[in-house]
Amino acid sequence: LKVISTMSVGFDHLALDEIKKRGIRVGYTPDVLTDATAELSVALLLTVCRRLPEAVEQVKNGGWTTWKPLWMCGYGLSDSTVGIIGLGRIGQAVARRLKPFGVKKFLYTGSRPKPESAAEFEAEFVPLTRLAEESDFVVVTCALSPATQGMCNKDFFSRMKKTSVFINTSRGAVVNQEDLYDALAHGQIAAAGLDVTTPEPLPTDHPLLSLKNCVILPHIGSATYATRSTMAVLAANNLLAGLRGEPMPHELLL
Ligand code: NDP
Repeated sequence: LKVISTMSVGFDHLALDEIKKRGIRVGYTPDVLTDATAELSVALLLTVCRRLPEAVEQVKNGGWTTWKPLWMCGYGLSDSTVGIIGLGRIGQAVARRLKPFGVKKFLYTGSRPKPESAAEFEAEFVPLTRLAEESDFVVVTCALSPATQGMCNKDFFSRMKKTSVFINTSRGAVVNQEDLYDALAHGQIAAAGLDVTTPEPLPTDHPLLSLKNCVILPHIGSATYATRSTMAVLAANNLLAGLRGEPMPHELLL
């Protein structure tokens, strides 16, 4: 094996130590999927906070009767605080899309402050604990690594407000799913939206699927026709360049 080309920006599925040891080159597909994944993250956030799946179901099952003031109410972005875990390419693209909804304050966390990336949103670098405590919406867009594995756990959810919404479009393993289930089932947080789970696919009898306040998508962050086509071409070009011993359009430097 000389070259690996992954049609993804994430590389947590690769045994990097072994790959490095064997001198295998790796191509991946950053940037080209940023917009599609950010768009899906925003779509999922709005779907969850305005309870769209529940509302659609009510229309179908006759639950929609006379107008009631608090029926099907959710939470809006106006005047809210949004916490982004991992203000990278996708995290910034999410913040850029959420800002026009009237978000009052952006918080972010990561391995270090990034003033140049944060300036556009006047986002404040805070520890994870403060992000959990102050955010009305938490959006997870970090890479999966030993440092981020299981990062959103019992302690994290117990610090969140009861009215807060949790969105994960990064990797399932960043979240402790048992702890998330408990937080959702006991009203510790308001709702969650996940595009990624552990395992994938999630078994259809998984407890999270029994909750009304949890929306789960089948890892479709980058799934637009245009983006998948661009990713495929980039992955093919990475592979060909790797086999020819040439510089790859996007090589993962190990
Ligand atoms: P980037 O490398 O640009 O961003 C990753 C971010 O993770 C960085 O800002 C980094 O911050 C942050 N991070 C690293 N360690 C920590 C930490 N300990 N705590 C908080 N944040 C941390 O990658 P992309 O934005 O392009 O992609 C992000 C991830 O999104 C991918 O790795 C992939 O897993 C996922 N993804 C999911 C898709 C889907 O279909 N749902 C589609 C595409 C990507 P810092 O620089 O400070 O270390």
